[in-house]
Amino acid sequence: NAHKAAQGSAHETARASAYEHEVKALLSEAGVPVPRGVVVRDLDFSPAAELAEPLVLKAFGPGLVHKSDVGAVALGLSRDELEAAAAGMRARLEVAGFLVEEQAEAGVELIVGLVRDPGFGPVLLAGLGGVWTEALRDTALRLCPISEVDARRMLASLRGASVLYGRRGGPPVDVDAVVKLLMTVGGPGGLWERLELGEFELNPVIAGPSGVIAVDARHLPA
Ligand code: ADP
Ligand code: MG
Repeated sequence: NAHKAAQGSAHETARASAYEHEVKALLSEAGVPVPRGVVVRDLDFSPAAELAEPLVLKAFGPGLVHKSDVGAVALGLSRDELEAAAAGMRARLEVAGFLVEEQAEAGVELIVGLVRDPGFGPVLLAGLGGVWTEALRDTALRLCPISEVDARRMLASLRGASVLYGRRGGPPVDVDAVVKLLMTVGGPGGLWERLELGEFELNPVIAGPSGVIAVDARHLPA
């Protein structure tokens, strides 16, 4: 009946819009590196004392999807600046709470995603991410499970691959760590086998000379 159906879809919507910190908790448990962080529901930021500065403040709430577009992300904060930044967000946005996390060092921003194609099944996506995602559309796709050779080929196939190998002025990226992350998501026994995780996107994963870290994570709506 219509009422039941509406309840069902409302439930799906609720599940599809799990908050960033909830998605990160699941992924972190499964071996995906994420920043250390704390969740704060009021404006008492004392739990952030355990985190190393600089800090990142992110507001979460039912309507906050593309956070930086609406000013729900503040980078480079000290502990003392959290409260005022949060109050500013609360004045403009409908906020359910805040994620405070350690700010990762700058690096190459990648996108890693898992999509479930109705025909092909689970597909791993990897490419250049962050602010470049839309402009460059430089991504590679492989059916899961991938092998380590597949992972390396995916990265090498990117048009912008040279940013990973240190041929564009920057230091080379820890490509082995990127490959390990791709295997964690799309390799044998990887997250693609966990149907309850649905489809998700890590954007960006920041890749540096000594490791990778997924600084944003979200479930894709079903
Ligand atoms: P959005 O919902 O807008 O995608 P993000 O969580 O991706 O929000 O944050 C926006 C940008 O801020 C990221 O693309 C990244 O460059 C930067 N950023 C976010 N969190 C961190 C972090 N913990 N460390 C370093 N940079 C971060
Ligand atoms: Mg993001």
